[in-house]
Amino acid sequence: MTSPKRILVTGGAGFLGFHLTALLLQQGHHVTAIDNLFTGRESNLASLKEKYGDALVFRKEDVRQLTFDEEVDEIFNLACPASPPYYQKDPIGTTETCVIGALKLLALAKKYNAKIMQASTSEVYGDAQVHPQPETYWGNVNPDGPRACYDEGKRCAESIFFDHHRLFGTRIKVVRIFNSYGPMMQPGDGRVVSNFCRQAIKGEPLTIFGDGAQTRSFCYCKDTVRGFRALMDSDDDFIGPVNIGNPGEFTILELAEKVLKLTDSKSEIVRMPLPINDPKVRRPDITLAREKLHWSPTISLDEGLPPTIDFFQQFPKSQLY
Ligand code: UDP
Repeated sequence: MTSPKRILVTGGAGFLGFHLTALLLQQGHHVTAIDNLFTGRESNLASLKEKYGDALVFRKEDVRQLTFDEEVDEIFNLACPASPPYYQKDPIGTTETCVIGALKLLALAKKYNAKIMQASTSEVYGDAQVHPQPETYWGNVNPDGPRACYDEGKRCAESIFFDHHRLFGTRIKVVRIFNSYGPMMQPGDGRVVSNFCRQAIKGEPLTIFGDGAQTRSFCYCKDTVRGFRALMDSDDDFIGPVNIGNPGEFTILELAEKVLKLTDSKSEIVRMPLPINDPKVRRPDITLAREKLHWSPTISLDEGLPPTIDFFQQFPKSQLY
């Protein structure tokens, strides 16, 4: 086991925040999780608090008005709503969270010489014209569209991270996360995996946006957070950006069919309009992660969907909204 570190996880009460916090506590570290609870839930951390006691501290805090000022060894910046319906609910707040959050947390990292990881996203590639997407691809983002608050916010955060590193030698790491899924997703977060699981379990129609031929590559949450850990543990001269995702690529229609089969559901499929600027294809090129981090995903979609469905099945149907 590595020696215990003091670690700050922003967005710690969210979906990936929970899985990362669980991994860090399991490794014997001390974690402060902060979250403004816009999409996260403090109750997500209850089981970890019970198991690890004082090794976990939760603070309700917004990174835009950060007051946390304690010596830490590592910072994982996951604070930002990540599901399109949520990041578009308060679009200016989303961009502010990316940009102001990055500035405040980088200042904290600089002050205490902590390593800091920015959770960036495959959305920086936008509606990609290069497939699969390597880190060297600069992307195809509409700066004026409804997704821009997130895409451009995350792109700007990356830019601030790299400038901080160049100007002050701040010990940064930038990870570009591709669609992740698994237990602890909020049933109502509006993402495709949670929507389909919830709809299939309730016997409601599965809502396919557009013709369902668009693709995504789904990475199981435990693989994703293992990637974060590997990045944080890499040498200081490896700063990224690095893709973390599962190269297994599926159409949204294929995903719907898998969920229907696994839930033994009789739900129909209905078509809804495709959201504006919805990327047509997405698949990570993970050559860099394999080479530099010796990381690759181990859990296929067929293996990761059953525990995800089990998680949603634990909710009373009335709470699956
Ligand atoms: N999608 C869908 N039905 C839904 C929710 C999403 O067909 O109920 C589609 C969406 O248009 C997109 C894909 O599934 O093409 C992934 O959407 P999600 O919101 O999960 O993630 P993102 O668009 O950020 O990759």
